[in-house]
Amino acid sequence: MIALINIFSILYDQLIGFLGIGSLLKMYQSGDYSSLHTLQGIEGAIGPFIPLLLIIEIVRAAFYKRFRVIDYKVQFFTYVFNSFIGRFISIAAVAFCIGLFEKYAIIKTTFNWYWLIYGYVVWELSHFVYHYLAHKVRLFWCLHSTHHAPQTMNLSVTYAHFFLEGPYADVIRTSICILLGVNPALLFFIMFIDGTWGAFIHVGENILKNARLGFLNNIILTPSHHRVHHARNPYYMDTNFCNLLNIWDKVFGTYVTEKKEIPVEYGITRKMNPNNFPDVYFGEFAALFHDIKKAPGIKNKFLYLVMPPGWSHTGEHKTAHMVRKEFLETEMKPAQMTTS
Ligand SMILES: [Zn+2]
Ligand SMILES: [Zn+2]
Repeated sequence: MIALINIFSILYDQLIGFLGIGSLLKMYQSGDYSSLHTLQGIEGAIGPFIPLLLIIEIVRAAFYKRFRVIDYKVQFFTYVFNSFIGRFISIAAVAFCIGLFEKYAIIKTTFNWYWLIYGYVVWELSHFVYHYLAHKVRLFWCLHSTHHAPQTMNLSVTYAHFFLEGPYADVIRTSICILLGVNPALLFFIMFIDGTWGAFIHVGENILKNARLGFLNNIILTPSHHRVHHARNPYYMDTNFCNLLNIWDKVFGTYVTEKKEIPVEYGITRKMNPNNFPDVYFGEFAALFHDIKKAPGIKNKFLYLVMPPGWSHTGEHKTAHMVRKEFLETEMKPAQMTTS
């Protein structure tokens, strides 16, 4: 009897899955994603993928646990739960933004090679916007700082994220891409390449000592550039926000290459314990809460949320921009003068 119920429940799941995928296919063929801006529409479209998502998260967690590269003492299922919930909200947020903004797209693109180039350039712009704000707006830094807490670099850093960071990133990136006309199918393809490259740029020094990748270092964003991004050295702070094509770093003046004479020191400037999970996960929230509590007046309290990390209501700011500028003026100039 139980076996029979199991068979029926499997058949039922398959049917629901089939119907869900069917509705997604229909959506792609018609090019009308408007149903995604309702809860029912999102459920119908992403529902079939949820069991698959859970399996992927369990396998990934098991893989990383086995190779003992997770530096944090996060319990196995807490880790699975966090990544699953984060990813679930992310996919729902992506679907919602597509449904909401598709009709306002400034142009219509299709899936071919030249629109892929256009889509990638737009994607990198949207990634730059999300990532720049994650470093320059204190509240968003609270979400992003978990990724910058590790004091060594290895592939597990790819998975060190506060669970709400993915949804925040995806809302900004998807909205910009869809409004600038990137076709959803194109967007998913770009997200796949971006995710794969985004994981690879966290390759550790034990695997790849010199991560400049030869001549590629002049053309694309290499693991070496991303090591620079993870550095807390004043010279490297808040640079290299792109992911694969670093054109926008070059346009906005945030492009910096790794210097042999300045070895990268990984981590964040706040004194913290990289092996203490609450500190890694909530430490920046606690510091923000503390600053808001002691700030006088509602305006100052609000400014702590939106101003860059290091901003102070007393005027004694210590933002990354100021620390870097001071370093360039005092340390770099004399050094350059002696070498020239
Ligand atoms: Zn960052
Ligand atoms: Zn990173």
